[in-house]
Amino acid sequence: MENTNTTTTPRLLEGKLGLVFGVASQRSIAWAIAQAWAEAGARLAFTYQGERLRENVEELAATFGKDVPLYPCDVTRDSDLAAVFANVAKDFGKLHLLLHSVAFAPKEALEGQFLDTSREAFRIAHDVSAYSLLACARGAAPLMTEGGSILTLSYYGAEKVVPHYNVMGVAKASLEATVRYLAYDLGPKQVRVNAISAGPVNTLAARGISGFTNMLRLYPKISPMQRNIRTSELGGTALFLASDWGGGITGEVLHVDCGYHAMGMPPSSLLKPDA
Ligand code: NAP
Repeated sequence: MENTNTTTTPRLLEGKLGLVFGVASQRSIAWAIAQAWAEAGARLAFTYQGERLRENVEELAATFGKDVPLYPCDVTRDSDLAAVFANVAKDFGKLHLLLHSVAFAPKEALEGQFLDTSREAFRIAHDVSAYSLLACARGAAPLMTEGGSILTLSYYGAEKVVPHYNVMGVAKASLEATVRYLAYDLGPKQVRVNAISAGPVNTLAARGISGFTNMLRLYPKISPMQRNIRTSELGGTALFLASDWGGGITGEVLHVDCGYHAMGMPPSSLLKPDA
């Protein structure tokens, strides 16, 4: 059934200042979330990784007006991160929201056997996809003087084996543990840290995973809701978690996957009769 909800977004983030990592294209999950946050009244700044993506992000950010700060940032470089937060301090003075929607593993590590993962691929996947959340939170925390909400994106491959997801599943498990430890450290400052565990979405990063189109085909067959998620649903959940409506939630990994994670066995219609 199509979503026929035509209500306008409530202004739950009026006056809030946010920083978004991870917009690469209009298909990016970060873009869906940025749109939901902006429609709810937040003022946003964006980072982009290298000149290759600058134009794309500039074009998308311009839809929010002329006054949108953009900062280059490779999250593996401490000097880039230091410059981003120094610029946020200059441009915004403080920060309420941070979206971390960044992940990477070398392509060869996302095909074949997990057993063959090289030390270097393991290091890169964990540096870009998990450590970077900690580095971003450390930069953001001093600016979150009025409390705040830090949000990252995970996937079910952190909890269960998903063939080909390999080292990225292990990095996502590290990311989810990082969410909990950061929630503990930052809780006293009323800074909340949460993750959304999203069902498959056809993005640039997802297409790097061997067999990704099979994931997209499988979810409607197995999930209780019999469909894939809509990116607007990621935006809606991210808005709820960032706003005071999610004010008591921290250290949480919330599944937005049409219920796929709740299934322990595929429906009998998918099982072949015994030979
Ligand atoms: P995406 O549009 O390709 O976004 C991934 C972003 O990560 C890109 O902007 C990418 O920039 C950035 N990135 C990679 N390495 C970086 C680095 N060293 N420094 C800074 N940025 C870097 O794909 P997406 O699917 O929206 O991914 C966003 C998040 O959602 C990821 O954490 C992903 O694991 C998670 N997620 C995705 C799905 C899905 O099915 N799509 C499901 C669950 C969770 P470049 O393009 O320049 O590399």
